[in-house]
Amino acid sequence: MSSIPNAPEPRNEKVLDYAPGSRERQELKAGIGKLRGEQAEIPVVVGGREIRTGELRKSIMPHNHTVPLATWHKAGTAEVLQAVQAAKEASREWASWRWEDRVAVFLRAADLLANSWRPILNAATMLGQSKTAHQAEIDSACELIDFWRYNAHFAQRIFAEQPRSAPGTWNRFDHRPLEGFVYAVTPFNFTAIAGNLPTAPAMLGNVVIWKPSDKAVFSGYHILKLLEAAGLPPGVISFIPGTASEITETLLSSPDLAGIHYTGSTSVFERIWGEVSDRIDGYRSYPRLVGETGGKDFILAHPSADPVAVSVAIVRGGFEYQGQKCSAASRIFIPDSLWPEIRDRTLEMIAEIRVGDPEDFRNFMGAVIDRSSFDNIVSYIEDARQSDEAEILAGGTYDDGEGFFIDPTLIKVSNPSHRLMREEIFGPVVTVYVYPDREWEEVLHLIDRSTPYGLTGGVFATSRAAILQAGEVLRNTAGNFYINDKPTGAVVGEQPFGGARKSGTNDKAGSILNLQRWISPRVIKETFHPPTSYRYPFMDDA
Ligand code: NAD
Repeated sequence: MSSIPNAPEPRNEKVLDYAPGSRERQELKAGIGKLRGEQAEIPVVVGGREIRTGELRKSIMPHNHTVPLATWHKAGTAEVLQAVQAAKEASREWASWRWEDRVAVFLRAADLLANSWRPILNAATMLGQSKTAHQAEIDSACELIDFWRYNAHFAQRIFAEQPRSAPGTWNRFDHRPLEGFVYAVTPFNFTAIAGNLPTAPAMLGNVVIWKPSDKAVFSGYHILKLLEAAGLPPGVISFIPGTASEITETLLSSPDLAGIHYTGSTSVFERIWGEVSDRIDGYRSYPRLVGETGGKDFILAHPSADPVAVSVAIVRGGFEYQGQKCSAASRIFIPDSLWPEIRDRTLEMIAEIRVGDPEDFRNFMGAVIDRSSFDNIVSYIEDARQSDEAEILAGGTYDDGEGFFIDPTLIKVSNPSHRLMREEIFGPVVTVYVYPDREWEEVLHLIDRSTPYGLTGGVFATSRAAILQAGEVLRNTAGNFYINDKPTGAVVGEQPFGGARKSGTNDKAGSILNLQRWISPRVIKETFHPPTSYRYPFMDDA
């Protein structure tokens, strides 16, 4: 068959509402029951082969950590080396497939996820990562479906991109995958990101070795099973849960490392970057390094802002998924003229929030991911309690008896450079600094300068002049900049996501810009009538 097909036009998956009596609610509850009952034993998967190393680790439910959810086999160096070999073997065939056959696998995966797999992956994310039904739906169902559908469309646009040709010649791009394997390292907090990082390079013909977060092996394994069900050939993506530093050491020692697709904290990315740079002589090509990292995201209200909209943005942007979003609003700047109203409305909403097991659909928040995260967040709260410059206005309470629960916490600081205003906490702790209205301009510069990050931020104002001014001064403060909206909730194809400074390489997941990092084009020039003399006309006698 010979043709230049069009990938289906992508449309964002509709978010289902899981209201009482709805079919999706019933199916999700059944999915939760099924996964809970299975007590899965998750293997390492290399070259399509399931390997049980016998080195078992536990997957827990953060909201009920005394009840085991699953166990998983930890990959050792031998399995990692096998994955490198399996990638090499799979690469020959996978890279030779036509692009439309490759993307068809992921389009089928998107369709399966939109239907029969939806309650499974959502249930896995609720159980293993403590997301509510809504937070799971927008992540593990809708965002991942969108990634796969949009990336198929972007892949087509890349393959259609061709150079011009002068008369007598034909120039072509051969959009080659990278030579070697891509190492995908994924975070715990978004199942969609865990699904996107290995598959975006794979769509363009790359082979991938995927190390899921050890805190999200459970949903990760279900993504892999879904991809297998969609027809992904063995070895294209190997799944190797295990000790991050050991796996990374082995893979970074391979001359075939062609790229790293990473999302997680800034410190880990900097370490990986340093290790790659130390070994640069040993690689066959310069590895592509794509990393989306931490944030300290802001909401800034101008005196002209709508106080109700600001309060809702603080609550949704700061506390949904327990504040464990790289984009979560965590430093808030409010003018003193609006503070009494914003404070009262925000406190009213916080007082209504229920925290608990996501299986109880009345809860707005679940637990934070694990013990070390719990301890880290609590240390910030206790620090605030001791500080003369901080006042806890709501929350500040926590309980790790059954699950790692931390109540939504709102803290007001008198010093805008307090560490609560500068450091990524990655939990349900939101800090407010109230500024004198007349210091609006100073506050803009303060926001720009006071953290090393540049991920997301939202400005609330009805004054257009204020919006323009904020847009200008804060130009490099956020890769995703919101006007009268909360800084979370980016949608694939609508707000491609990523930040600069210490928030990452800003390659914008969910856009064509990201996919372009995973190809190494070869240009082919063909000349129909090659010259037959080396001489040029200017060399002739007059
Ligand atoms: P993390 O840094 O703890 O882990 C991320 C990944 O790196 C995991 O797979 C982990 O196992 C691995 N890792 C840990 N140590 C490593 C090492 N020495 N070598 C190689 N890999 C190693 O992050 P997390 O807790 O999973 O996720 C939260 C962080 O991710 C936050 O900082 C958040 O802002 C960031 N994040 C950023 C984005 C974004 O798009 N910018 C999106 C989601 C999360």
